[in-house]
Amino acid sequence: MSRTKIVAGNWKMHKNLEESLALTTEIRGLVRDEVKAKVEVILCPPAISLASMHRLLEGTSIHTGAQNCHWEDQGAFTGELAPGMVKSTGATHVIIGHSERRQYFGETDDMLANKVKSAIRHGLKVLFCVGESLQQREDKTFYKVIEKQIREGLFGLDRKEFSSVVVAYEPVWAIGTGLTASPEDAQEIHHFIRRLIADFYNPEIAENTSILYGGSVKPDNAKQLFAMGDIDGGLIGGAALKARDFIEICKAAGA
Ligand code: PEP
Repeated sequence: MSRTKIVAGNWKMHKNLEESLALTTEIRGLVRDEVKAKVEVILCPPAISLASMHRLLEGTSIHTGAQNCHWEDQGAFTGELAPGMVKSTGATHVIIGHSERRQYFGETDDMLANKVKSAIRHGLKVLFCVGESLQQREDKTFYKVIEKQIREGLFGLDRKEFSSVVVAYEPVWAIGTGLTASPEDAQEIHHFIRRLIADFYNPEIAENTSILYGGSVKPDNAKQLFAMGDIDGGLIGGAALKARDFIEICKAAGA
């Protein structure tokens, strides 16, 4: 299979600059050849740490990514971060559409589509998050919800642009709760997403798109999740803040 295995750590609003550098140093020291050769590792800290972390990681295979960016190139948007600014730190990736951004910051599918396009135009790869709430899982509207998020957030891209997209399926009810989708349930959704991509673009593009799972991934459940045919790695929250746990998850992705 030609797809890249990816493990990305989403540090959310944790770790100041000094703490970020300490965690990065620890992770850097633990990444061994078995991970380097098989897994793309991406660290997504708070934006203030991106540039310093990039310097610390120079000469390694570990990438950095932002957790968000605006769609405009510059302007009067106090507190925001333009995609070119993210790029200038040495970051290669940006997370867009995380459920916490959708829920707490009112980010709509429309806004997210603009962010995705702009980030890609600036040479960033996009980790695009989709996922249903507990209510949507229970009332069985989750397929519809995920399809809408994918169509509206991503399908305005042409084929070349889409090659810079990694999809992350993150059921909202599993994020930070300790609840995880079963490997079989997660696989079903990943397969569904891949089919949407195949139908809209083509089967080859779908085959080459990495689709990550996120939601309480830990060292003890990573292996079963990553063993599923359409799960190409993970977007990791809580466990990404502990170097040893994070590395165990990276190893599971490469196994
Ligand atoms: C996340 O926020 O992207 C996430 C998956 O968090 P956690 O692993 O803590 O559930």
